[in-house]
Amino acid sequence: MYEHVLVPIDIQHRSSWERALPAAVQAARESGARLHVLTVVPDMFAGVDWRYAIRGEQHGSIDYDRTELMKQARDRLQELVGEHVPASVDTEVLVRHGTIYEEILEAADEVGADLIVMASHRPSLKDYLIGPNAARVVRHARCSVQIVRNPPPPGSDAGPTT
Ligand code: ADP
Repeated sequence: MYEHVLVPIDIQHRSSWERALPAAVQAARESGARLHVLTVVPDMFAGVDWRYAIRGEQHGSIDYDRTELMKQARDRLQELVGEHVPASVDTEVLVRHGTIYEEILEAADEVGADLIVMASHRPSLKDYLIGPNAARVVRHARCSVQIVRNPPPPGSDAGPTT
């Protein structure tokens, strides 16, 4: 049914891949599709241009190498794929840099995705039904988007609303 399944992952947050990645693997396996696992190195960290954020961390150096940041992201993504994706699934690892939802949408077009699988948001945003990137991807994607919700944390009274 699907030929190209794209799963965008925030490597900093387990909640973005712990349920979405198995769901994407299942969709790819059932269809014999190619799986594209993507992470985006954002150009903004908490509202601050990444060059300034890194400049702070590096005690004034402006020579931070974006290539290095992307290499670290690729290594981590490769590790996650090794742990969670069976070798029998035809898989491609993608790392991009920029605005997260824009890069997800562009990657989807480039790989010819016919399904995007992604988690709805981080647990810290539990009052929202869907996070900002997921919402934008759902609104603008040209293909089907499967939103995988994480279960509410234990003890939470966040049940379905009527
Ligand atoms: P939140 O801000 O709570 O994480 P988002 O809508 O931004 O909510 O995140 C939901 C999903 O968006 C993630 O599960 C993932 O699929 C995608 N996403 C978020 N950040 C990134 C990133 N840096 N690279 C790739 N995908 C991402």
